[in-house]
Amino acid sequence: MSLTFKIIIGMIAGMIIGILCQAFQLTNYSQLNNLVFDGLIDGLGQIFIVSLKMMVVPLVFFSLTCGAASLGASGSIGRLGGKTISLYLFTTAIAVSVALTFALLISPGEGGDTSKVETPAYEPKSAPDVKETLINIFPDNPVAAMAEGSMLQIIVFALLLGFGISKSGDPGKKILGLFESANTVMLELIMFIVKLAPYGVFCLMMKLGLSIGLYEILKLAKYFFTVVAVLIFHGCVVYSFLILAFTKLSPLIFLRKMREALLVAFSTSSSGATMPITMSTVQNKLGVKRRIASFSVPLGATINMDGTAIMQGVATVFIAQFYGITLTPDQFLMVILTATLASIGTAAVPGVGLIMLTMVLGQVGLPVEGIGLIIGVDRLLDMLRTAVNVTGDGTVALIVASSEKDLDHGKFHELSSENE
Ligand code: ASP
Repeated sequence: MSLTFKIIIGMIAGMIIGILCQAFQLTNYSQLNNLVFDGLIDGLGQIFIVSLKMMVVPLVFFSLTCGAASLGASGSIGRLGGKTISLYLFTTAIAVSVALTFALLISPGEGGDTSKVETPAYEPKSAPDVKETLINIFPDNPVAAMAEGSMLQIIVFALLLGFGISKSGDPGKKILGLFESANTVMLELIMFIVKLAPYGVFCLMMKLGLSIGLYEILKLAKYFFTVVAVLIFHGCVVYSFLILAFTKLSPLIFLRKMREALLVAFSTSSSGATMPITMSTVQNKLGVKRRIASFSVPLGATINMDGTAIMQGVATVFIAQFYGITLTPDQFLMVILTATLASIGTAAVPGVGLIMLTMVLGQVGLPVEGIGLIIGVDRLLDMLRTAVNVTGDGTVALIVASSEKDLDHGKFHELSSENE
């Protein structure tokens, strides 16, 4: 049985068992709940996520340093950085624009009446300051950056270290050899963790099934399905178009190869935790060379959140319509700009997109309490948007690699691999 199939079975079985346990109110038996649901199942699910996260810092550090060393030697680092970041911002801006268009056509919040609806209390948390965010990209202490898992700081340090290595002749080569070996070991470990994904995913989905509120979805059906429709459209149509236009490669093969990473992204709701799998997929299955993958994937996991921006676009229109506020064209432009910037500042962990929505709403003067209206369905939307975020990272890595002639076409077209 292929790994993907096992993951899908784990997901569906976990979800069904969780929903059934909820329906039969098994969680009310405190002993069973403490031992099995909150204990074993939650514990195993968390261990799976933590094992993935454990790989992130060493993987990014070793692989990006090696990648940067070869980029530094060829002098192409500036061009590559510019191209990658521009593409990430470009795809995010498209994502918000598509979201706004769909939302205006469907009008998910029309007919809303704030006096009739009980808005769950929402304590707005302040969004980070833009200047602070920029300064924070540079680490004052690289060890602290690694200890705290500050991705952008680690990226900056690894890039500089790689550059230093490329300029240091023989001593640099010695360090590079060591880092190359460490990188190979990390990728091997990730392959091992991926094999445990069906069990990890089963536990995560069962936990979700135990707490999922189907009634919430019914209440917010129009908003929920608008976001889902845009996410699917962007994930399948927009990315396919971009891949075809920029690389002439088959989007179907791309999606097929990305599927394990997407399933894990969906189950963990964290593009950060999924990053090791994205990295190994992009290199081993899509054929993107390490010097491109090691830079674009961690950067994408940190700053590229198209799915999150989509939710923010639809949510802004929904909240505006719900409160009977008409947005002007200027405000729409502002939403596109802020949601794109917010996507850079959104941490790649569950639920942060909703916090960053505060920034978007604040910029266009919409009531921040409106977030309380949509919070009930955000857990589920987070899963789907994280999968879109990860698809975006893979798409840009593929496009950049193809444009830099750093793509192994043989690997991309190779259909059977060990894990499929
Ligand atoms: N969960 C998303 C991610 O990790 C971020 C978000 O939208 O909350 O990509």
